[in-house]
Amino acid sequence: MNTTRSQELYAKANLYTPGGVHSATRNVEPHLVFTRGEGAYIYDADGNKYLDYQAAFGPYILGHNHPYVNNKVIEAISRTDMFGVGSTDLEIILSEKIVKHVPSADQVLLCNSGSEATYHAIRLSRAVTKRNKIIKFQGCYHGWHDYVARNMLSAWDMIGKRDPGSAGMLDDAIDNTLVCTYNDLEDVERTLKANEGEVAAIIIEPIPHNIGCIMPQPGFLEGLRSLCDANGTILIFDEVITGFRHSIGGYQQVAGVTPDLTTMGKAMANGYPIAAIAGKKELMERFNTKPGGDCWFAGTYNGHAVGTAASIATIELMENEPVHEHIFRLGEKMRSGLREIHNRLDMDVFVAGFGSVFTTYFMNFEPKHYAELQHNDADFYVKYRHKLIERGIYKMPMNIKRNHVSYSHTDEDIDHTLDVIETVLKEMLN
Ligand code: PLP
Repeated sequence: MNTTRSQELYAKANLYTPGGVHSATRNVEPHLVFTRGEGAYIYDADGNKYLDYQAAFGPYILGHNHPYVNNKVIEAISRTDMFGVGSTDLEIILSEKIVKHVPSADQVLLCNSGSEATYHAIRLSRAVTKRNKIIKFQGCYHGWHDYVARNMLSAWDMIGKRDPGSAGMLDDAIDNTLVCTYNDLEDVERTLKANEGEVAAIIIEPIPHNIGCIMPQPGFLEGLRSLCDANGTILIFDEVITGFRHSIGGYQQVAGVTPDLTTMGKAMANGYPIAAIAGKKELMERFNTKPGGDCWFAGTYNGHAVGTAASIATIELMENEPVHEHIFRLGEKMRSGLREIHNRLDMDVFVAGFGSVFTTYFMNFEPKHYAELQHNDADFYVKYRHKLIERGIYKMPMNIKRNHVSYSHTDEDIDHTLDVIETVLKEMLN
């Protein structure tokens, strides 16, 4: 595989940008510079073509550069952009769609990134409850801000300890964020009791896709709902990955558990920048977008025509075409194909996933929470990923993240991927 041009450009990128990349998790080997994306494929500066399952960490539910979405964006920006006062027709159409589809959404506010959405959800919870503390779960990711950037992908010896995700974080923010173990209701109950009357919110990825695809055990999400109700604590589902991907109403619709607040992003606009916070009317009306509201919510680019038009188009396709049926079927085809390969090769590994999402944990049991991922053979995955890239299959940098099937992937793509995977695994096991 020739990557000469990528290497030249990467050297140049390093002159102007620390590490040559614009987000922390992008600095991975091999350093490729991408120049084109189309459907299920991405292309690098040397013209190499890859079948893409990384999906830019999740937004691409329809595929790259989707013509229906692009045309709607072009149409929108040929007549509008931003006005800075009042509302736009596009914002109203999108908000109505979100309220129609997402069970917890009585009302919605648009912003630009998942991090903004989780920040606002937490600040609103503090405003409403007049409490300072929140609970998050070890391994879950909710964005880069101080409220949540602790105990993310912690080193194994930092589990259960104070693990700030960044230098420069406020001590108070770190200490007011309590960390529990996913799927461990007793831990949450204990933590709430030890901090009685002090916990404003529990924020959770209903399926923690930032550590792959660990499924909630029966009763776990329902148990969180009951604990929140009993303690006057606000339940926030961070559906930035699961929202619109696992159903048009998010994973809350699948699970039948309705949070008080929901954050969304990524798949809601198939790769265009937009995010949202939605929830109960009596909570949302505390934002000062409504006169009298006391919780600040603002943003120059909120509701920008580009992201808003893209999101309307993405949701329209989900409404009118069998998007979820297709990605769920191909996701299952991928997972069962992987299991067959592993059986043929006598590999005792665990294939996890839901809907369009899949990952192989290189360990011999189903993990229930982050600490159990210590048993995953991360080095094996890195070598495996490199060999797949050399053969034109592009997967996530870490297998304790996850991979995604989009509406642009075909049966032939999955068959081809499985063939390549079997060849690579055979080579590695010999
Ligand atoms: N919440 C979850 C579950 C995420 O996976 C992410 C990003 O990966 C975020 C929030 C933050 O979103 P953004 O990167 O758009 O700020």
